[in-house]
Amino acid sequence: MSGPRTPIGPGEGGTRQTDGNRPLVELSHVEKHYGSLHVLKDINLHVDTGEVLVVVGPSGSGKSTMCRTINRLESIDSGVIRIDGEPLPQEGKELARLRAEVGMVFQSFNLFANKTILENMTLAPMKVRHMSRKDADDMAMDLLARVGVESQASKMPSQLSGGQQQRVAIARALAMQPKIMLFDEPTSALDPEMVNEVLDVMIELANEGMTMICVTHEMGFARKAADRVVFMADGRILEEGRPDDFFEHPKTKRAQDFLSKIL
Ligand code: ADP
Ligand code: MG
Repeated sequence: MSGPRTPIGPGEGGTRQTDGNRPLVELSHVEKHYGSLHVLKDINLHVDTGEVLVVVGPSGSGKSTMCRTINRLESIDSGVIRIDGEPLPQEGKELARLRAEVGMVFQSFNLFANKTILENMTLAPMKVRHMSRKDADDMAMDLLARVGVESQASKMPSQLSGGQQQRVAIARALAMQPKIMLFDEPTSALDPEMVNEVLDVMIELANEGMTMICVTHEMGFARKAADRVVFMADGRILEEGRPDDFFEHPKTKRAQDFLSKIL
């Protein structure tokens, strides 16, 4: 992957082969409990190819749980989740393939602490995608350059700043050539001065056409990058709309209260 600069996302003419008419991700009547706690209540949601969805809502409303059900880190009690028209596999090889298609970046930097940045990048592409070391290294260096941390490749994660680690986490997820990227509050554990360097990478990815679901309270990002905002509270989706509509004219009292606290 050397040569002229290629986009970090799938972009135009990318590898994605989807039916333009059906959603890339679809949750239909999804329910989930943790014991007696009802965490997801009749969740209906679709994300189209290339769409950027921002999910906001108070702490404990089920945003992380919803994200985790999409790559099957959490099971659901009932309902259906489809990726590219296919119901989520339950286990085995199919599940591994799905996980490769759904990239995820969490709040806490989840790099392997005892591996170099380059090893963090190449492990899964070599194991799951069966890439050669040379190809995996080339792709990794290319992606690290795109997120601006190629000079850190031989370092250990602890030697990088939080913002750099989070950019590596994004690059590492992209190395699997995912169809969709899930971000669960990727900047909320960062020192304030590092937030923008991570959001800038996300905005670039959005501009290049990546399909994204982003749990974030970064309103600047939502206004710049989101096609749609979803507001969750108490396990339900209460509102859904264009960013400007939602932020300026929230309809429900819950959303009005929530926005008055964070804006
Ligand atoms: P959010 O991301 O919106 O803050 P979460 O999805 O993390 O919300 O949590 C939703 C609810 O589920 C919360 O009440 C939380 O305490 C609970 N919860 C989350 N994960 C677990 C778990 N593994 N076991 C039991 N309860 C959980
Ligand atoms: Mg959460």
